Amino acid sequence: MTARVIDGKATAAALRERIAGEVVRFRDAHGRAPGLAVVLVGDDPASTVYVRSKGKATLEAGMESFEHKLPADTGEKELLELVDRLNDDPAVDGILIQLPLPRHIDADKVLTRIDPDKDVDGFHPLNAGRLAVGLDGFVACTPLGCLKLLRAERGDLSGLNAVVIGRSNIVGKPMAQLLLAESCTVTIAHSRTHDLPAVVRGADIVVAAVGRPEMVKGDWLKPDATVIDVGINRIEAEEDGKGRLVGDVDFASASVVAGAISPVPGGVGPMTIACLIRNTLVSAARRHGFSLPE
Ligand code: NDP
Repeated sequence: MTARVIDGKATAAALRERIAGEVVRFRDAHGRAPGLAVVLVGDDPASTVYVRSKGKATLEAGMESFEHKLPADTGEKELLELVDRLNDDPAVDGILIQLPLPRHIDADKVLTRIDPDKDVDGFHPLNAGRLAVGLDGFVACTPLGCLKLLRAERGDLSGLNAVVIGRSNIVGKPMAQLLLAESCTVTIAHSRTHDLPAVVRGADIVVAAVGRPEMVKGDWLKPDATVIDVGINRIEAEEDGKGRLVGDVDFASASVVAGAISPVPGGVGPMTIACLIRNTLVSAARRHGFSLPE
């Protein structure tokens, strides 16, 4: 058996096209485009690439992109003042602080300073709480993107056994909450889980968000399971020593057993950016009482 490859690139492109259409309607109604402010402190190469692709996607959707690139030695007070200004700026609907921040800045302090109604990354504790109790808020973009891929692949998820590997605040925990809200039976696994392969073997849906290259093997999977690979790991290829990206799932062995699997790259990554654009549009729409289709 060979698994269907879940095409995150195509799903993300379709979502971005729908958003661009709604942005035109929004602009016609309100005389301005939704705006996303992205703040980068320092010059971490991976963060610089992420910020560039977020800015590009924002502009491609017809939205305003406000990039704030600050030197690595920017003080915490200065950054908090910038967040305050962005909170007060009516042209800014979404605020994203690119992580990681330099060590001398308390990331929690900065993230909780963002107006929760502009927190399009969904990292503010108020939004995590809203998700947990089923209120409207912002859901972190990566788990939201995973859920959209799962819905497109499986339709109704209710009653399915889901195993989320990883319990971080930005991926694992919100992913588990989303699956619970879909009426899955959810298990959250982590580094202390006993006999992880046996836990994974019971799952109809596996979401791997670990940060360990190719950890999940094909013989851990229930035949026909749907596998979403969140991991982004850079490894050196044995053949030519060149760097390449792999996920947390061993694609070669998993794709023989799974029913469907998202690849790395081209799976969850593009959905994360599409969901950021979506959350920015949703923020603008909420602020103006502008209705969006489901
Ligand atoms: P974290 O490091 O914050 O969390 C990793 C989780 O994996 C922890 O809960 C940890 O458990 C668990 N874990 C570590 N080792 C094992 C193990 N051997 N067995 C079982 N569980 C283990 O990572 P993130 O959640 O931030 O990211 C996870 C991966 O997703 C990374 O590769 C990251 O690059 C990628 N990512 C991809 C995104 C995308 O857009 N595609 C966006 C965000 C992240 P414990 O809590 O016990 O330590």
